[in-house]
Amino acid sequence: MNHPPVLVVNAGSSSLKVKLLPHHLSLLVERIGGDTQIKASFATSVRSDGISDHEGAFKLCLTALAEQVPLASIVAVGHRVVHGGERYTRPTRLTPPVIAQIEALSPLAPLHNPPNLAGIRAALHLLPEVPQVAVFDTAFHSTVPTWAYLYGLPRRYYSEAGVRRYGFHGTSHDYVTRQAAQLLNRPRSELRLISLHLGNGASAAAVQFGHSVDTSMGFTPLEGLLMGTRSGDIDAGVLLYLLRSGMSVDELDQLLNKRSGLLGLSGVSNDMRDVRRAAAAGDQAALDAIAVFSYRIRKIIGAYAAAMGGLDGVIFTAGIGENDPELRVQALQGLEFLGIDLDLDKNARGERLISRAEARVAVMVIPTDEERMIAEATLEALAS
Ligand code: AMP
Repeated sequence: MNHPPVLVVNAGSSSLKVKLLPHHLSLLVERIGGDTQIKASFATSVRSDGISDHEGAFKLCLTALAEQVPLASIVAVGHRVVHGGERYTRPTRLTPPVIAQIEALSPLAPLHNPPNLAGIRAALHLLPEVPQVAVFDTAFHSTVPTWAYLYGLPRRYYSEAGVRRYGFHGTSHDYVTRQAAQLLNRPRSELRLISLHLGNGASAAAVQFGHSVDTSMGFTPLEGLLMGTRSGDIDAGVLLYLLRSGMSVDELDQLLNKRSGLLGLSGVSNDMRDVRRAAAAGDQAALDAIAVFSYRIRKIIGAYAAAMGGLDGVIFTAGIGENDPELRVQALQGLEFLGIDLDLDKNARGERLISRAEARVAVMVIPTDEERMIAEATLEALAS
C-alpha cells in the first residue's frame, strides 16, 4: 500500500487512537480526563500530564507525530464513526450538516457517536485545512434486506423510532472479504462468504456477491454471538424477568454489556487466553463458556449458508479468530456436510488458507486492518 499520508482517528469515550498511514505511526491515549497514559509505536518525548479532553489528546498526538513527519504532508483525516443510521451508506466528507446528522444519530449509539464527534471536532479545530471523512461501522450493512433487518415489533417502532438491525464491524467485514477474494483469486462479486470477526466484540456477516445480506449485531452491538463481556443473543423475556425482580435499567445494562459473555459464563476472564487456561485445568464453567462461544458460531454459519443459498468461504478474523486455532476447529465441528474440510496442520500453523485443497468451502484466517480500510475509503471518498 502506497498512498499520500492519511491520519486515521478512532475516538472512544476515554481514549483516542490515531494512526498515520502508510507510515504505520500509531498513538493511543488512554484514560483521558483521569490518569492519562500515552502509548506510541515509536520513540517520542511527549508527556501526557494534564490532558483533560479529546482535543488535548489530539494535540498531544499531533505534537508527537510532528517529530516524525511534517504535519503539512497529511492530505486527509479519516474518522471511524460507529453509527451512520440509514442515511450514511458510504464514507462521507465531513461538513457542518453531516456533523449535525451524526449528532442527531447519537441516541442510537449513545456510547459511541458522542466520543467519535469529540474526535472529529478536535481534528477539525487542529487541522482546519485538511479534508476529513467519516467512515461508518454500519455502512457496509446498508444492503441487508428488509426481512433480515426488521424485528418482530409493530412497524412504527421501525418507521418512527428507527428500531431495526443496523449491524456493526462493517469496515472489518468489508476489508476481510475483499482480502479473501484476492487470496482466492476470484472476484468478490461471485463469492458467498461468511466473515467471523471474533475479538472482544464479536460479530458475523453473510456477504453475498460483495454485499452484506445479514449480520449478527443488531440495533446495538449487543446482539448475536457470545462476546468478551456481552451476552449476545438472549430471550428478551429474561430482561423483563430481571426488571420485574427489581434490577434497575442501569444494572441490567451493566450486566448485559460488561459482566456477561465469556467473563460471565466462565467466571474467569473476558480474555479467551485466560478462559482456555482454566479450561485446560478442567474448570467446567470455562469449558462451557468456550462451548457456547463456538456453538453460536457454528449455528450462525449454518444459518448464513441458508440465507445465501450456499457457501464458498468462511473467514476468521480479529483477536480470537486470528490467534486461536483450537477455537476454529471447535466452531467448524460437524460442518463437513456444508463442504467444510479443515486442514488441521495448516490451521495449527495459522496459514491464510486452512481448508484442504479439494474442499468445496475455503476456510481462511485473515488479519483485519480497519485503519488501512478507513485510510483507503477516505481517499476514495475524496477522489469521487
Ligand atoms: P480484539 O478485540 O480483536 O483486539 O481481540 C481481543 C481478544 O482476542 C482478547 O480479549 C483475547 O480474548 C483474544 N486473543 C488474543 N490473542 C489470543 C490467543 N493467542 N488465543 C486466544 N485468544 C486470543
